[in-house]
Amino acid sequence: MIPFLDMQDRHSPRRGEYLRALERVLDSGTYAGGPEVERFETAFAAACGTTEAIGVGSGTEALWLALAALGIGPGDEVVTVPMTFAATVESICMTGATPVFVDIDERTRTMDPASLERALTPRTKAVVPVHLFGRIADMDAILEIADRRGIPVIEDAAQAHGAERAGRRAGALGLAGCFSFYPSKNLGAMGDAGAVTTNDPELARRIRALREHGQERRHVHRWIGWNARMDAMQAAVLEIGLRDLDAGNRRRRELARRYEAALRPIPGIDPPEDPGDGSHVYHLYAVRAADRGALCAALDAASIGYGIHYPVPVHLQPAYEHLGHRAGDFPVAERCAREFLSLPLHPGLADSDIDRIVDVLAAASLPLVGS
Ligand SMILES: *Cc1c(COP(=O)(O)O)cnc(C)c1O
Repeated sequence: MIPFLDMQDRHSPRRGEYLRALERVLDSGTYAGGPEVERFETAFAAACGTTEAIGVGSGTEALWLALAALGIGPGDEVVTVPMTFAATVESICMTGATPVFVDIDERTRTMDPASLERALTPRTKAVVPVHLFGRIADMDAILEIADRRGIPVIEDAAQAHGAERAGRRAGALGLAGCFSFYPSKNLGAMGDAGAVTTNDPELARRIRALREHGQERRHVHRWIGWNARMDAMQAAVLEIGLRDLDAGNRRRRELARRYEAALRPIPGIDPPEDPGDGSHVYHLYAVRAADRGALCAALDAASIGYGIHYPVPVHLQPAYEHLGHRAGDFPVAERCAREFLSLPLHPGLADSDIDRIVDVLAAASLPLVGS
């Protein structure tokens, strides 16, 4: 049996360190925010190459806070992609702004810059590219288009901790980067947590206020904020997990290369392209499968876990019906939603696990050749 994820396995090598850190928090008496969170913020900002990191309660809150801190609200438009986790779009809606979708690019599976250019209007107040599955979106092109009009770019980096392009890391490319530390992410807490990174001190100051009920200082509520703090326990856990992020990402890349070499020749399976420059950290290893159902059945029969991210693009979800989209509006995202199949990939996986998974897939896709 090969599970899709193995969370205990991820934390077990540092079990003693985790228990000591949790004991330290227990004894400190400070559980929401405080020095543990500040220490993690310093470490995470350094890891991303930004001057600021603000610890918050989740990735969803990170996105909402970044947009809210820019003053985005009703009447504004924020451009993003429909092939993402709902949180990207939810956070836009929660500010009162209208999400505007653009399709993804077939090859990178992230925001198509040419479609972005066409989607911009005088009401566009931000662009939120998603580094889907751990691959940094085409930020050079996206920033060039947005910068020309003075539109801020907020990275949804919830799947791309540690991904790097030309010496700069996810979260340090746009005006701000939004991270999730949901347990299964490349850097995961033991519960919910998130962070915003930025080099803009004024934006950071606003986000710090907003996460604490909009307080500029104690008892002065300058803005309508929210309770969006990070827990001290999560910060302590994350500070330890951060030490393994780069090694974990290196191992993910190694495993992805092994997958790609073996899957490329198999008809009916299209593995993700390896950009080869560290800009992909393989949070998920999603292949495109011509007959996904057949592969799922074969994986089920072999007790191999898998996931589908995401079976329905956000523009076709019931909650977003009011935006007036229909099937066919974003054909690449829709085709990917039918074909994406996420195979097991995490640092604890063995080379032999990959080989076994590939064998099962190869046997299952053979019938397609003659059909
Ligand atoms: C996980 C994720 C989020 C939301 O993060 P939470 O911590 O679960 O709130 C947002 N965007 C993307 C792309 C994600 O994968």
